Amino acid sequence: MMAKFSHTELFCLVARNSFVRPYRALRYCAAFLLVALLAAAAAASPTLTAYFLDVGQGDATLLVGPDFTILIDAGRHDRADVVPHLEALGVTAIDLFILTHPHADHVGQCAAVVRRFPVREAWLAGSEHATLSYERCLDALLETGAGYHEPRAGEVVELGAARLEVLHPAELVGDLNNDSIAVRVVYGDVMLLFTGDAEAEAEAAMLARGLPMRAHVLHMGHHGSRTSSTAAFLAAVLPEVAIYSAGLGNSYGHPHAEALARVAAVGAVIYGTDVNGTIRVTTDGRTYEVVPERGGPLAGPSAELRVSAPAEDMPREPIAPVAGMCGPEQVDINSAPAEQLTRIVHIGPALAERIIALRPFTSVADLLRVPGIGPARLADIDAQGLACASASGD
Ligand SMILES: [Zn+2]
Ligand SMILES: [Zn+2]
Repeated sequence: MMAKFSHTELFCLVARNSFVRPYRALRYCAAFLLVALLAAAAAASPTLTAYFLDVGQGDATLLVGPDFTILIDAGRHDRADVVPHLEALGVTAIDLFILTHPHADHVGQCAAVVRRFPVREAWLAGSEHATLSYERCLDALLETGAGYHEPRAGEVVELGAARLEVLHPAELVGDLNNDSIAVRVVYGDVMLLFTGDAEAEAEAAMLARGLPMRAHVLHMGHHGSRTSSTAAFLAAVLPEVAIYSAGLGNSYGHPHAEALARVAAVGAVIYGTDVNGTIRVTTDGRTYEVVPERGGPLAGPSAELRVSAPAEDMPREPIAPVAGMCGPEQVDINSAPAEQLTRIVHIGPALAERIIALRPFTSVADLLRVPGIGPARLADIDAQGLACASASGD
């Protein structure tokens, strides 16, 4: 950066002392300075931005780096929103197109994407599946001559400034979800994990393989389904941010409360495309920022800029509520104002008012006195670990 500025100063100095007429020299100088500034800004902080696109009840995630563009999955078969999303984000070509598995909510608009943008290489698990979406996807890839690869666990691929570590599958088991391609994307010190629709079986297989799985950002498997995001898997990944892709009011009930509670229990902040729209995660390789299109996180200690942990896979202690005490990040049910109470899982404005009316509470479990909070919700609140009840409560 300093070198660029001194070059500019040198150029401006030369221009001033040259035979070029002064006003023209000034113009050259200003133009050069602008170019140098832009170049310096670009060089100072090359970033990776991951867009968890809001494509209804399906997956499509775009990763744009300084020298690469990756698309993971291509939305639903009965919508046409992926190409417009990519166009709006300025995509002109795709270096790597990962299709995690052949279900129609992941390969739905694959053919449309391939026909619209040049694709350098496509990764598919290699599963046999004869839906129309998948057939069209394969036909389109064949027509355009995109590279084709079936990645397997343990492969590591450098793509520009990013490193892709394949965590799954090692071999196909014949179950489409559990044969999903899982990839950890490493950008500097920041790691993002994508597992398609991998369920408990695939998560257990990944754990058994012993490859590094720690990630700051986890794309929750299978749209936040209870079949995925098992406690053991989460204990290995230890995400700080968990994001699921699901459509509002979908018929599967995704995301499932059990999966959200497990993720909250490891202290992760949760976002979902159904609630937050398209969610953008930007990182310079050291820190990262989560910016949802609308709303705030569903659960978690904080939605502010998060500073990444050191590069090594450091285990973190989840925030544990202590009886009669409140941690600095916790919400005291005996004193917090209504808008803070709504950060607690299941607590909306109406329940917050009821909590305030029924104070004081002897413990978090005492919330059972509040009409609308039953044992299941209390279990989720406990698992989230955000609520606490101060002993002195007034
Ligand atoms: Zn799916
Ligand atoms: Zn699936």
